Formats: sequence, C-alpha cells, structure tokens
Amino acid sequence: MFNEELEEVCPKVAKCPIFQAGTLLNEQTGETYKAVYCQSERHKQCKRYLASKKCNCAIPVQVLPNAYISVDEIVKRINSGFYDIFNKK
Ligand code: SF4
Repeated sequence: MFNEELEEVCPKVAKCPIFQAGTLLNEQTGETYKAVYCQSERHKQCKRYLASKKCNCAIPVQVLPNAYISVDEIVKRINSGFYDIFNKK
C-alpha cells in the first residue's frame, strides 16, 4: 500500500521548480499542475518528466507539464540553447 502510494508521486518533486515554486503563470495554475501531474500516476505523462528521462539534464522552468510541443522537440530546444535566453543570470 505504502509503495503503491509512493509510485503515484513523481520522483522529481524534490528538485522540480514547478512543484517547489509553482509556475511562471500563477499560484492556482501551479497548484493544479501539482494535483493533476506531480501527485498522481499522471506524472508519467508530464512533458518535464519525460524530457528529463531522455536528456538527463535540468529542465528549464519554461517547460510545462502539458507543453504543446513533443518531448523530442523539448530536448532538441534544450540542447540547442533555446531556453538559455530566458534564464540568463
Ligand atoms: S512538474 Fe512534472 S517533473 Fe515536475 S514534479 Fe511535477 S510531474 Fe514531476
């Protein structure tokens, strides 16, 4: 029972900025993502989760769980530096 519950929660919650800090949109949207994706079996359909499994890299905060582009396109954009312009320090 306990293990089944654990499997429902995304293994990325501890470091994922969507879970830890909400989204760039608003607090309500962040809470909805957490309920729909992060804390359910549906985390396996999250584009951030799927992209992290493919590229083994940090996923930019701009990539949302229900991103309209494919996982391959997300990884391609990350590798090309597409998101870097948004995340300059
Ligand atoms: S946003 Fe996606 S990767 Fe991040 S914790 Fe939620 S389900 Fe996991």
